[in-house]
Amino acid sequence: MKSPFAAPDYRDPQFSSAVITWQKQHGRHSLPWQTDDAYRVWLSEIMLQQTQVAAVIPYYQRFLQRCPTVHDLAAAPSEDVMALWAGLGYYTRARNLHACAKQVVERYQGRFPSDPALLQELPGIGRSTAAAVAAFSYGTVAAILDGNVKRVFARVFGIDEYPGKKAVEDDLWLRAQALLPAQDIAAYTQGLMDLGATICIRNQPHCGDCPLQQRCVAYASGRTAELPIRKPKKAPREKHAIMFLVQAGEEILLEQRVDSGIWGGMLSLPELYGMREGLLSPSEQGIHPDPYLLEQESAVQTWLAQFGEIESVQSLPVWTHVFTHFKLFAHVVHCRLMRKPHLLAESSLNWVKLNQASNLALPAPIKTLLNTF
Ligand code: SF4
Repeated sequence: MKSPFAAPDYRDPQFSSAVITWQKQHGRHSLPWQTDDAYRVWLSEIMLQQTQVAAVIPYYQRFLQRCPTVHDLAAAPSEDVMALWAGLGYYTRARNLHACAKQVVERYQGRFPSDPALLQELPGIGRSTAAAVAAFSYGTVAAILDGNVKRVFARVFGIDEYPGKKAVEDDLWLRAQALLPAQDIAAYTQGLMDLGATICIRNQPHCGDCPLQQRCVAYASGRTAELPIRKPKKAPREKHAIMFLVQAGEEILLEQRVDSGIWGGMLSLPELYGMREGLLSPSEQGIHPDPYLLEQESAVQTWLAQFGEIESVQSLPVWTHVFTHFKLFAHVVHCRLMRKPHLLAESSLNWVKLNQASNLALPAPIKTLLNTF
């Protein structure tokens, strides 16, 4: 008799054969990274985390032009890597990408390992990415479980809980593992990705074209709009930063941010109460956040005093930007100097021509602010 404590048996060979047959006939076959070159596969997989295919393609092509091999990427200065990435968002990915390239060169002489367990030891490579790189590059049989695949599984198997929950995710990994085919792993992996991206899409999935329709619980029970279960909502945290747009003639002052944290390693506007520091809002620190009073605040005046004679100071309208975990309120003080000082107190500050700022490695919201300005 079967023990009630035995792990569930999720094996179903028909599942993978349906996905593979469909992928070969209807899946995507001309994406620029569909190759068995591990460097290109890995680069695309990192770029595709949290970013859509259409947005990734031009970045991927520019990256390969500048760094055609993992050796080129490992040897590139970090400013170049950040500039190539600027606009793609989630900048930790770029820092990890660079660190990973260096490790592949140092530890593996530039050849990515074929074992997903070894790939997972490298910076920025999680379990699903490791499996995808190994499957596409070397035909290693390993399971992926990215956001798209979770959506497909949640619908097909009628999962009634939020798939990001640890216990649910563990169960999905068991399913992903049990459903793997013995061969054609690249077509199967690509098929799952293609289904998630083009058929079993978030809103109004194309169930009529889906090879899994006959086994799909969500389809059979009319719950495709309800599944997967959404993440329980939390109100986003609010953070305030006071930023300075310091201008001398046609030049403005930019600050090189420290390597860690949001926008780490990028150029940005200098900040007083920044996203880097404990993130107390001006009001929490006893400073009035009203933009029309900001320039009168003593902390602002003290910071500006380092520049000598000032022609004008004015607060710009507050702008907001929503990050994954918080909403930023940026209170920007625009300050025109009578003349450019010879020396700057902080070595992280640099003057740049205003009309050249958009070519630099700036976070997209700062670029937008400068363009508007
Ligand atoms: Fe998704 Fe519809 Fe296919 Fe089910 S039948 S997996 S809901 S596309």
